[in-house]
Amino acid sequence: MGWQLEGVVSHEGYVVAYVNRDWVPAPVKGCPIVGGWPVVVVPSRAGGFPLRELGSRVEDGESRIEGLTLVAAGCDCGWRSTRVQLAQAMAWSPARMERVEAVEAALHAAWVEHVEQGSAQRLAVDMALERGTGGERR
Ligand SMILES: [Zn+2]
Repeated sequence: MGWQLEGVVSHEGYVVAYVNRDWVPAPVKGCPIVGGWPVVVVPSRAGGFPLRELGSRVEDGESRIEGLTLVAAGCDCGWRSTRVQLAQAMAWSPARMERVEAVEAALHAAWVEHVEQGSAQRLAVDMALERGTGGERR
C-alpha cells in the first residue's frame, strides 16, 4: 500500500531504491534467511552508474535485499523525486521497502508536493481550455 491523498486517484506514491543496472540479486547457499527470504547484500557502489530501480527485475522479488543507500520518492504516474543518498542503509523485502521513518517523511513530503503541483498544472490547463472556447466565462 503506497501513499495516497484523499480525492486523488491518479497518483500513488512509494519509496523506490536504486541499484547498479546490471546487478541481479543472487542468494548464495547458506546465506541468512530473514522473514522467509534469503538475504542478499547490495555490493558497494563501485561503478555507480547506470542505475535501475529495484523491483524492475523478476529476481528482485525473490530475496531480501540489504544495504540500499540510494532512494527516491516515486509515483504511479511515472514521476520520481531527486535521488537521496542515505547515511543509514535501508532494506527491501520483496515488493516493499522497509520503513525508515526519517527518510520516508521527507520523501513523502516531496511526493505530496508533486501531486499538488500536478493538480495546479491541470487546473491551469483546464482554465486555458475554457478560455480558448471563447464562450461564456464563469
Ligand atoms: Zn504522480
